[in-house]
Amino acid sequence: MSKVTHAKLVIIGSGPAGCTAAIYAARAMLEPILIRGVQAGGQLTITTDVENYPGFAEVIQGPWLMEQMEAQARHVGTEIVNDIVTSADLSQRPFRLMTDSGQEWLAETLIICTGAQAKWLGLESEQKFQGFGVSACATCDGFFYRGKEVVVVGGGNTAVEEALFLTNFASKVTVIHRRSEFRAERILQERLFKHPKIEVRWNTELADITGSQMPPSVTGAVLRNTATGETETVAVDGIFVAIGHTPATAVFREKLDMKPGGYLKVKPGTTQTNIPGVYAAGDVTDDVFRQAVTAAGMGCMAALEAERFLAEENLAEAAE
Ligand code: NAP
Repeated sequence: MSKVTHAKLVIIGSGPAGCTAAIYAARAMLEPILIRGVQAGGQLTITTDVENYPGFAEVIQGPWLMEQMEAQARHVGTEIVNDIVTSADLSQRPFRLMTDSGQEWLAETLIICTGAQAKWLGLESEQKFQGFGVSACATCDGFFYRGKEVVVVGGGNTAVEEALFLTNFASKVTVIHRRSEFRAERILQERLFKHPKIEVRWNTELADITGSQMPPSVTGAVLRNTATGETETVAVDGIFVAIGHTPATAVFREKLDMKPGGYLKVKPGTTQTNIPGVYAAGDVTDDVFRQAVTAAGMGCMAALEAERFLAEENLAEAAE
């Protein structure tokens, strides 16, 4: 028989949003349970150098930062559980969560921080050079390409915005798109077409990435013309894949209101979903900023909102 545990607050996800929610909730004596999820530590565990998280004068490593956040959450009293939430019943309180291990959680409040995953092309070489010349975040990694040449893959708003942002650093940005027109907004397209550092290659896909092994670094992009099938290798230092993100919200489909693309909808200026007592923080609800520091900020907001909700309902002492 599965074990059932009743908690005042369950946090799902262990990225910056989840860990920050846990730190604030634990310090508010909510005795939070944090269920770590599929990719413990979130997207920062698959990046390398982090230079834009405040508080560190030196470059730090993404996995190290997440270890520190989790250690801090644990230190202040969070119970961290290595498990994956497989289904959720949010129709009544306490909310009921089932996990992969068979454990069942009853939660008076819930903070969902399950994040989003960048979509990748699925090339073996793309995986090999991830964090070493291949990135899905220009805001995070653009700075490392000062005076270098980069390729951006994609034709949506993200690809065009990332290409424009990368012109602040790179000497040349080549945008490759599999079709002959972008789906990005017109105004962004116009800015892109006018930019002297940007070249657009239509009907082109990334067939492969070349590079060296010791240390791992990208040296070229093998481009394939989708009309003729011809391939060509161009010398580049970095490749930014910007073909969209997928928020991890499958468990909450038809249970919580969502924005297009599956991101959880929250009331503006808060982390409240459409169900009282259920909050969403970080990339699972944010399709605009997608930064570790904004996710952490939202995690803090969610914990404070959960605390107020429990205090107002006078439930803080009810659960065991
Ligand atoms: P998106 O609009 O879904 O665009 C993805 C792009 O990647 C498309 O051009 C698509 O090509 C291409 N693509 C997808 N899979 C591919 C593959 N396997 N190989 C090659 N190319 C592939 O994604 P997004 O740009 O990340 O935007 C997501 C949402 O956020 C959109 O609603 C967007 O408007 C919004 N957003 C808004 C802003 C803003 O308002 N400033 C900024 C960023 C994002 P096809 O065109 O051929 O399908």
